[in-house]
Amino acid sequence: MTRMTSNRDLLTRSLSAVWHPCTQMKRHETLPLVPIARAEGVWLYDFDGTRYLDTVSSWWVNLFGHCNPRINAALADQLGKLEHVMLAGFTHEPVVLLSERLRELAPAGLGHCFFGSDGASATEIALKMSAHYWRNSGKPEKTQFISLKNSYHGETLGALSVTDVALFRDAYGALIRQNATVMSPDWREAEAGESAADFALRCANALEDHLQQHHARLAAFIVEPLIQGAAGMAMYHPVYLQRARELCAQYGVHLIADEIAVGMGRSGTMFACEQAGDTKARSTGGAAAVALPLSEEALGAGGLTPDFLLLSKGITGGYLPLSIVMTTEDIYQAFYADETARGFLHSHSYTGNPLACRAALATLDIFAQDDTLNVNRGKAAFLNRIAQPLREHPNVRNFRHTGMVWAFEVETPHADFAQRCFSLGLRRGLLLRPMGNTVYFMPPYIISEDEMQMLVTRTLEIIDALI
Ligand SMILES: *Cc1c(COP(=O)(O)O)cnc(C)c1O
Repeated sequence: MTRMTSNRDLLTRSLSAVWHPCTQMKRHETLPLVPIARAEGVWLYDFDGTRYLDTVSSWWVNLFGHCNPRINAALADQLGKLEHVMLAGFTHEPVVLLSERLRELAPAGLGHCFFGSDGASATEIALKMSAHYWRNSGKPEKTQFISLKNSYHGETLGALSVTDVALFRDAYGALIRQNATVMSPDWREAEAGESAADFALRCANALEDHLQQHHARLAAFIVEPLIQGAAGMAMYHPVYLQRARELCAQYGVHLIADEIAVGMGRSGTMFACEQAGDTKARSTGGAAAVALPLSEEALGAGGLTPDFLLLSKGITGGYLPLSIVMTTEDIYQAFYADETARGFLHSHSYTGNPLACRAALATLDIFAQDDTLNVNRGKAAFLNRIAQPLREHPNVRNFRHTGMVWAFEVETPHADFAQRCFSLGLRRGLLLRPMGNTVYFMPPYIISEDEMQMLVTRTLEIIDALI
């Protein structure tokens, strides 16, 4: 096997040997793969030196740029000490330090970290742990789950049972357990004149109706806090989470906060759950309004504690697969007993991998050293300012923003808008990956003002070419 030295060589050999994810492979007959030879900062480079701005952080994962020197150094150091050891019956420093750091940072009361390999495995762990908790607590009939309409929690069979995306489910329907969905508070669905907060409260009432009827068989409600990514970057008012927390407690149903995508600062606070409980934190005031950057006082004020908090994607800065399920003392204690079968029975070979934990620790160090959350608020304000022409563009609808995520719909005559936008983006040095006619930006946090300007200007050119 020879090494790869050209784009063409990489593409041909990839199509012959690699079955790419989330892809109809035949489409690559007309839509070429994008060859990437190396990356640095927000930029991905091919063998010819053509570069693409990674506007979607390689799907949420990258926070501080590709090949970040500080994360590289931490990993190099860890490589010389311990690359891996099994976590069942053994322990090591990176996994302990990371658990302690997260306990300090996370909403109060989430003192126990269980480790998985990726986002979907975190969902599986939370679902199993919730149902097993009820079984250990003398309520074995509580085995059902609910999720929001258009929810996304991963694509393994258990995770698909709480994922409401027809494309991902339909072929596998016979293999998936049916769970109910409840109304999504996505403010694009609000009635004319109804504020985002009022709509969120109306959706919370629908949740209450469902809980009232079905709580006896329900183990947990799983939710993506503030932003439903795969639903088309659906954003909603935090008062929904606050009500969901109260209602779940009232009806004896666990609340699982899936912060796999929105955790690690992406929502504007370290964890999106921090923004619930302080409804002054965001100004949404109506379906057309834009969420403003958070005020100083809003940060760290209030917030809710879910029964389970799921982290993955950005946790290692985009370096290595890792996921974490954080939970409470109450849940931990329900498993603490003499009998093996009362213990939580779940493992992955790479559970708590030291390299991945070390990358996560280096990522948390950068947050602290660079005052990232604060700096990001300035960057978000800058991007909002320069995005004015986008927001006011006659073909742009629902321009919206939460933390370091922006999204809007484009009114276009092209049924294949997403594909055209992707291709035109590449030609202009942008990695844009629209969902339908929804365009979104969620760049690495290290993006500079020049790069943000480039992003906005080129996106406007692309939209003008597609209307
Ligand atoms: C990406 C994602 C998952 C699944 O994570 P994987 O690592 O892709 O398995 C689950 N929930 C949410 C909200 C996600 O964005």
